[in-house]
Amino acid sequence: MADTTYLDWPFFEERHRALSKDLHAWCKANLTGHHGDVDATCRAHVAKLGAAGWLMHSGAGEGETLDVRTLCLIRETIAQYDGLAEFSFAMQGLGMGAVTLFGTPEQRDWLKKTRSGQAIAGFAITEPEAGSDAAAAKMTAARVQGGFLLNGEKTYISNGGIADVYVVFARTGEAPGAKGLSAFLVDARTPGLEVAERIEVMAPHPLALLRFTNVEIPESALIGKPGDGFKIAMSVLDVFRSTVGAAALGFARRALDETLARVKTRKIGGAPLSELHMVQGHIADMALDIDASALLVYRAAWTKDMGQPRITREASMAKLKATEAAQRVIDMAVQLHGGDGVKHGVMVEQLYREIRALRIYEGASDVQRVIIARAVLGA
Ligand SMILES: Cc1cc2nc3c(=O)[nH]c(=O)nc-3n(C[C@H](O)[C@H](O)[C@H](O)COP(=O)(O)OP(=O)(O)OC[C@H]3O[C@@H](n4cnc5c(N)ncnc54)[C@H](O)[C@@H]3O)c2cc1C
Repeated sequence: MADTTYLDWPFFEERHRALSKDLHAWCKANLTGHHGDVDATCRAHVAKLGAAGWLMHSGAGEGETLDVRTLCLIRETIAQYDGLAEFSFAMQGLGMGAVTLFGTPEQRDWLKKTRSGQAIAGFAITEPEAGSDAAAAKMTAARVQGGFLLNGEKTYISNGGIADVYVVFARTGEAPGAKGLSAFLVDARTPGLEVAERIEVMAPHPLALLRFTNVEIPESALIGKPGDGFKIAMSVLDVFRSTVGAAALGFARRALDETLARVKTRKIGGAPLSELHMVQGHIADMALDIDASALLVYRAAWTKDMGQPRITREASMAKLKATEAAQRVIDMAVQLHGGDGVKHGVMVEQLYREIRALRIYEGASDVQRVIIARAVLGA
C-alpha cells in the first residue's frame, strides 16, 4: 500500500484517518479493476459506492457543508485502485456541485438520489466553440410561459449517455458574456435532449455531445438567480479543482508503488534496479513530486474547510501542481518498467492513459497558470 504518513499532517482530523483506513479496505475488497462495458461498469460503480455510503460525501444536504478534505481523500484513495470507479465517485460530486451549493429544497431531491447511488449526475458547461473560455457559451435558455426553452449543444460531457440528471449552463442574456449565463437542473429524460454523439477517449469513460432542441424546462429548474450561472460554475470549480489534484495524486501514488515493487525485484547485471544511483535519483524525484502535490492539495482542502469562502488560488495551485507532477511520476514509472510499461492493461500503462485528461479538464494547466498569476499580481 502507498505511503499514508501524510495522514499525520495537521490538515487532518481523526475522522479523516479512520475514513482513509476503511476506504482502503473497501477498495481492496470491492474494486477489481477489470472493465468490459464502460457504461455498465460505471453504473455498477455508482450503485456500489452508493450502497456502501461513500457517495454520501459527494454532496451536502440542507444544513450540511461539504468536507473538501474528505472529498480529496476519497478521490485520492479510489484513484489508487480503479480509475473508472474514481471517475464515478467524482462525477456525482461535480455533477451535483451546483445543487449542493445553491439548490432549492426541491432540487435537493435529486441530491438524495445521487448520494445514495440511485441516480447518475453530469455537469454540462463546455460547448464545441466554448471550452476554456466558458463565458463564451452560446446555448440559449429563452423565457417561455412557466419556464425556459433550451437550445444548443454541450460537448465532452462526462456521464453523457448514462446520466439521469445534468446541471446545464445556458445563456439567459441578462448581460453579454459571463454575466448572461444561468444554471439549470435538467432531467435527462426531458424531450428534445439527445445524446448526439458518444466520444471515445484514450482512457475510456462515458463521454458525449448532448444536443438540446426546444427542451422545455420549468421555472423551478433554475439554480440560483438568472445571470448567476457563471458565478455558480466558478464556485463549483473552486471546490472541485483541488479534488482533481487529489485524483492525480492517487494515480501518482499507485505509479510509485508499482515502480518500487518493480525496481526492487528486476535485476540488471545481477543486482536489483533499485541499487543503481540513477534509478534512486528518479525514485527521489517521484516521491518529492508526490509529497509536494499532497501538501498543495490538502492545503487547499483544509483552507476551504476552515471557512474561507473562495480558494481560487489554492485550488488552482493544487490542480496544476498535482496533475503535472502525476504525469511526470507516471511517465517515469512507465520508463522504469521498460517494455512491460507499455504493454496494454499493465497498471502503469493504464495510469499513463488515465492521467492525461486531468491536465485539460476543469481548466487546462495554462488556464490555471493564468488564474494563479492574476491572483498573485492582484494581491
Ligand atoms: C475526458 C474529458 C472529460 C470532460 N468532462 C467534462 C464535463 O463533464 N463537463 C464539461 O462541461 N466539460 C468537460 N470536459 C471539457 C473540458 O472542460 C474542456 O475540454 C476544457 O475546458 C478545454 O476546453 P477545449 O477542449 O475547448 O480546449 P480549448 O479551450 O480550445 O483550449 C485548448 C488549449 O489552449 C490553451 N489555452 C486555452 N485558454 C488559454 C489561456 N487563457 N491561456 C493560455 N492557454 C490557453 C490550453 O493549452 C488548452 O489546453 C471534459 C474534457 C475531457 C477531455
